[in-house]
Amino acid sequence: MEIFKQPERLSAPICAKCGIAMTWINSALIKAERTVLHKFTCQNCGNSSQIRTPAKLAKE
Ligand SMILES: [Zn+2]
Repeated sequence: MEIFKQPERLSAPICAKCGIAMTWINSALIKAERTVLHKFTCQNCGNSSQIRTPAKLAKE
């Protein structure tokens, strides 16, 4: 998997328990699904969350 830096326009999810913005961990391209999986964690309670966005593949 290719590792990406945090997308600038991607807003962090809000922790359901704490109501605060979660911290981005990493993003990875899933070529089979053509999506980028962004992982977040809550610094307060350790809750984790994921966001999927469409992957923009340069070479098709
Ligand atoms: Zn939390």
